[in-house]
Amino acid sequence: MKVLDLHCSQGHIFEGWFASEKDFQQQHSASLLTCPMCSCMRIEKRLSAPRLHLSTGSGQGRASAQASDRSQIPSAAAQEKLWALQAAWLKMSRHMAQHTQDVGERFTEQALRMHRGEEDEKPIRGQATPEQTWQLLEEGVPILPLLLPKATTETLQ
Ligand SMILES: [Zn+2]
Repeated sequence: MKVLDLHCSQGHIFEGWFASEKDFQQQHSASLLTCPMCSCMRIEKRLSAPRLHLSTGSGQGRASAQASDRSQIPSAAAQEKLWALQAAWLKMSRHMAQHTQDVGERFTEQALRMHRGEEDEKPIRGQATPEQTWQLLEEGVPILPLLLPKATTETLQ
């Protein structure tokens, strides 16, 4: 049995089980392969790093296989998780960028003024030095130090 990492033209990643590499080639050239998520038929084989295929053997053997797997090159499943996280993170960043006002370097001053009630509260974002960040946190200002991917804020300007 041969397990191959496949992906469709939409970027969905899934595993295909074949009797052999040749079996995959035959099914591929006959367009018999479809993506389980979008039914798209443009399937390609992923060039993935060598990985451990875990058999559902005895508990002990499995545990040690997983332990050694972790120290090696990330598995396709781990990569998939990472990509999902990245996508979610990008989406969240974009959301934050859209729903906050960029006050740039005045961030610390503005956040303090709002915290002290000198100014109306509104969601803002901007730059702060590590020292300013600590100052705000020590004053009890509810801020969240985050690095937003530049692309998510650039597209809005
Ligand atoms: Zn797909």
